[in-house]
Amino acid sequence: MTNRIFRSICLVVLAVFFASVALIMGVLYKYFSDVQRSQLKMQINLAVQGVSNEGMGYFDGLDTQNYRITWIGADGEVLFDNQTGDQKMENHLEREEIKEAIANGYGESERYSVTLMERSLYAAKRLDDGTILRLSVAQSTILTLMLGMVQPIAIVFLIAIILSILLAKRLSQKIVEPLNEIDLDHPLREEAYEELSPFLRRIDSQKKELKGQSRELQRKEDELDAIISNMKEGMILLNSKGKIISINPSAMRLLDTNGYCIGRDVLTICRNLDMQEVLTSALEGEQAEKTVELNGGYYQIDASPIISNETVSGVALLLFDVTEKENAEQMRREFTGNVSHELKTPLHSISGYAELLKNGLVKEEDVGLFSERIYSEAQRMIALVEDIINLSHLDEGADDMRREEVDLYGLAENTIQSLQQKADGKQVRMTLEGEHALLKGVPQLLEGILFNLCDNAIKYNRENGSVKVFIKDCKDEVVLTVSDTGIGIPEEHQERIFERFYRVDKSHSKEVGGTGLGLSIVKHAVRLHGAAIRLSSAVGQGTSISIAFPK
Ligand code: ADP
Repeated sequence: MTNRIFRSICLVVLAVFFASVALIMGVLYKYFSDVQRSQLKMQINLAVQGVSNEGMGYFDGLDTQNYRITWIGADGEVLFDNQTGDQKMENHLEREEIKEAIANGYGESERYSVTLMERSLYAAKRLDDGTILRLSVAQSTILTLMLGMVQPIAIVFLIAIILSILLAKRLSQKIVEPLNEIDLDHPLREEAYEELSPFLRRIDSQKKELKGQSRELQRKEDELDAIISNMKEGMILLNSKGKIISINPSAMRLLDTNGYCIGRDVLTICRNLDMQEVLTSALEGEQAEKTVELNGGYYQIDASPIISNETVSGVALLLFDVTEKENAEQMRREFTGNVSHELKTPLHSISGYAELLKNGLVKEEDVGLFSERIYSEAQRMIALVEDIINLSHLDEGADDMRREEVDLYGLAENTIQSLQQKADGKQVRMTLEGEHALLKGVPQLLEGILFNLCDNAIKYNRENGSVKVFIKDCKDEVVLTVSDTGIGIPEEHQERIFERFYRVDKSHSKEVGGTGLGLSIVKHAVRLHGAAIRLSSAVGQGTSISIAFPK
């Protein structure tokens, strides 16, 4: 910009300079021409006076210097000419100034010489005798004038150039300086030029707008970062070559890597074949998903291609923890298998006994025994189906069951009463100790807990053994303890007896009418009450199970 201004100023100065020189020259030339013309007029008057008085004698010894003096007869014949001497000259009657002088007494004209470098001024005056005296003087043209002044003009030109360069430089710097000093961070702080105000105001408003936009962008980026960083699903962004662009902490934890994996191929940090497969599909532009086993858990990998301009520019990998779902699925599969198996055995027995009876292969005296077996197998099946129904009801959350204030002691009394016959049959003595204790709970579930615990305490007891139900009302909780003097549970099984269909001794359990679901129902019901179970057992001595219900 400085250079441009500098050049412009120089050009303007030069143009003004040349225009001024031309103008001055023109004016001067005109002025001097006029002076010369009036001088010529005055001199011809003098010469006419002299020739009128002295005739040809006037020209003797006349020093005419630059002037040419010609005396022309009335017929146009040249009588005297100081420059041609005695030479014969052509008739001058046709010359413009002569014609004018003949007509008006005085005539003037000017003519350029062939080279155009010189101009001649002519003045002619008629004498009283009819002859004409003409005076002419050579005058330099404006071009010759200028050529003659080349040197002074060149000197002035040089000075003008130097001065204009210096001035232009100073001026251009001075014009540009305030522009350079504009603080674009605070464009409105000082106004360099009034003309720039709208421009600076626009910059300021755009700056504010940009600032707002970048703040908003930053906020959104932070928000997104926070979401991505805190989400428990793993997220990995890959470029079109499968190299990691971004990875969130959950994915790093899962793949056991750190931030240095950025820029590396994802397959170098996870060599899982299923992962490779979904990645290949996504890089080919197809959405893919697969459940894979990673770090001892199950993860669903969703690979989505990122498509821009109809080409795959990257892949977004999402890793969902589906371990729980997968375990539940497994449990459901196992449960279904176990249920079918548990139901099949009594059904086979019933079918077998019934077939023998049908074909008359059972002796008369054994019919009662066979009927008894069919009845007990059917009872077992009923118990099993009831337990399954209870358990699936609990699995669904038992939402329809209402919580109410329950006296656990009263419930225990009822349970003992209902099991008394069974206890008597096994010669087991049942006692209830403790105090009345109120708690908020679901009566059906609490009954289920009491029944299953007491039922087990009778089933796995020895002859003449005892079962003690103890209820204690503490400050924050009600503790129920069912202890027996039975066979006890070996330590290695103690953790697992709450699993579905888990039995320490399968045949013994079946023998005593167990379904393998009693303690699972207890565990579920306890969980729904927010209570905690504690088990202590010693083989051959007995088992004690305590449940602490929060009030
Ligand atoms: P089951 O219907 O077979 O009794 P449970 O779920 O109630 O099923 O109990 C699981 C297993 O735990 C039983 O098969 C048994 O081996 C063991 N068990 C439960 N309670 C007792 C107890 N009081 N004494 C000894 N073993 C017990």
